[in-house]
Amino acid sequence: MGEIVKKNNLLDNAIRKIKDFPKEGILFYDITSILQKPEAFSYCIDEMVKTYENTGMNAVACIEARGFLFAAPFALRMGLPLILIRKKGKLPGKTIEKRFVLEYGEDVIQIHRDDIHSGDKIVVVDDLIATGGTVKASLELLNEAGAKAVDVICVIGLPFLRYNELLADYNVQTLIEYDRE
Ligand code: AMP
Repeated sequence: MGEIVKKNNLLDNAIRKIKDFPKEGILFYDITSILQKPEAFSYCIDEMVKTYENTGMNAVACIEARGFLFAAPFALRMGLPLILIRKKGKLPGKTIEKRFVLEYGEDVIQIHRDDIHSGDKIVVVDDLIATGGTVKASLELLNEAGAKAVDVICVIGLPFLRYNELLADYNVQTLIEYDRE
């Protein structure tokens, strides 16, 4: 089962691994079990704050839906505004959107236009980075809206899915990484 390549015992013990979910052959890394352990949850936020304090970020952005859980306490601790990146049709104000290709089919993400200010340095937060496709579309959306989003921090990374190649132009940080079994 998923060998740890960037080790972190506290987090590894808090992440439930579920075989063949949502379909056969996928090892699912469940972050709901981190939320059940306040010590592990607060560790994640502390590490994110340590990584980004005094780096001059102007905002935090996060990806629906599990990214919200980590980004909200992180943004509060940083004293920064929080930008929600949502699936099409969920945000009530004027939006900017990006269409992107998934393994099967395509998807559209949106942000509120007024949340972005020209030149803003934004760090994007998500729970897990696999192929990096969703994160890349998010970074491109923020940059097309006028920001300078070049940083990403995720709790879990799966580098064998090669997100580092897709996101070679960006600075990607993770708290724990797993290799193929
Ligand atoms: P990706 O665009 O391939 O980086 O993955 C998009 C999202 O799918 C991630 O942010 C996760 O929420 C979810 N995801 C993909 N693979 C897994 C996995 N093995 N376990 C848990 N969540 C996953």
